[in-house]
Amino acid sequence: MARIVMKFGGTSMAGIERIRAVAARVKREVDAGNQVAVVVSAMAGETDRLVGFCREASALYDPREYDVVVSSGEQVTSGLLAIALQAAGVPARSWLGWQLPIHTSDAFARARIGAIDPAALNASLARGEVAVIPGFQGVADDNRVTTLGRGGSDTSAVAIAAAMKAARCDIYTDVDGVYTTDPRIVPRARKLARVTYEEMLELASVGAKVLQTRSVGLAMKEGVRVQVLSSFTGPDAPMADTLPGTLIVSEEELGIVAEEELDTVERQLITGIAHDKNEAKITLTAVPDRPGAVAAIFAPLADAGINVDMIIQNIAHRPKGGEGGSTDVTFTVPAADLPKSLAVLDAAKAQIGFTEQVHDTRVAKISVVGVGMRSHAGVASTMFTTLGARGINVLAISTSEIKVSVLIDEDETELAVRVLHTAYGLDAT
Ligand code: ADP
Ligand code: ASP
Ligand code: MG
Repeated sequence: MARIVMKFGGTSMAGIERIRAVAARVKREVDAGNQVAVVVSAMAGETDRLVGFCREASALYDPREYDVVVSSGEQVTSGLLAIALQAAGVPARSWLGWQLPIHTSDAFARARIGAIDPAALNASLARGEVAVIPGFQGVADDNRVTTLGRGGSDTSAVAIAAAMKAARCDIYTDVDGVYTTDPRIVPRARKLARVTYEEMLELASVGAKVLQTRSVGLAMKEGVRVQVLSSFTGPDAPMADTLPGTLIVSEEELGIVAEEELDTVERQLITGIAHDKNEAKITLTAVPDRPGAVAAIFAPLADAGINVDMIIQNIAHRPKGGEGGSTDVTFTVPAADLPKSLAVLDAAKAQIGFTEQVHDTRVAKISVVGVGMRSHAGVASTMFTTLGARGINVLAISTSEIKVSVLIDEDETELAVRVLHTAYGLDAT
């Protein structure tokens, strides 16, 4: 017998027929002797619809009320799944975020999970019930409903798995695992049997939306074994404990303990490629080239809670032999924060001293990720050469220990991902 968490995403919960199929899948695990908590998303498209209502009601909606509205999608699917399980002869009940409770911060619309008291959950499981828990929602200290940010049901599932000390957290979705890149863009993408937490964290944070970034960080911190697998398989599909999907593991588990071992392990240098079209580029022209100028730009943005991602500062144009040169500074912010960013910069224009702000939302960030990068040179140069050969212009660059990202024209996203996938030898044969 094992304790497991099964999480089903929006496509898997879209309609009563699919919810019945989910109930059948859960029943199989219960019949195999497992104690099961299920975390569900709202039906596909429902959260978008609810967000739309809030925006329509008022552009300046109160995030507390937004959370009341958007959390309702998961309330519906959790009740429906409990009904479908009961109809299939499986004892089940739903537990809303405030009933368990799942305590969160009071950062409405993007709350962070704090503590989950496992007592009620454990008692329910001990009674032989399946606990059905709506993902995405929690409760703040003042008893108000919160949500965890888009895609947050993954994080709910991992947090529940940690609280109930589950053997595994199985994330059922509309693809059968984590691929070398989004299989909807590159049909020749390969499914990975295993990915390290570090790589998955980077991939998620640079746009691979198969798992919410926070869920991976939490799994890494709490040591939760996460598997991504398909919910669209028939009754004869292999059981989840045979690990048919992609397992997210520690580097130790993968066998990469020391750098030397990297050479002996047959692994690609690059594990995956991701893209993100949700960034916007801002260029401030003729920023005075003097100490403190960069701080004058980024401090007010930070104060406004805006995350700056890529930054490039062009070579200063200094008049011959003189003082008082100037430079262009280019950086990216989340596209949703562009209007706020422009307003903040405009307000600080006198302190910064730039001439003009130019912005562009038709950009995409392409990132290659792999732990193999730590010990091998040449990853970035392969990237630039490959893109250059296709006439794709690089607008900005950023790197981390296991990632290289470039900013390009949005129209070239698919082409860039495809040619890089081939260049790094990732295509399925
Ligand atoms: P769910 O509703 O189940 O949470 P999501 O739509 O959030 O599902 O995530 C699954 C989607 O993630 C897939 O349909 C796929 O298009 C996308 N995706 C992006 N990058 C990858 C990747 N590297 N591997 C697998 N899927 C990916
Ligand atoms: N329903 C929420 C969303 O669409 C949470 C989730 O599905 O993970 O963002
Ligand atoms: Mg998701």
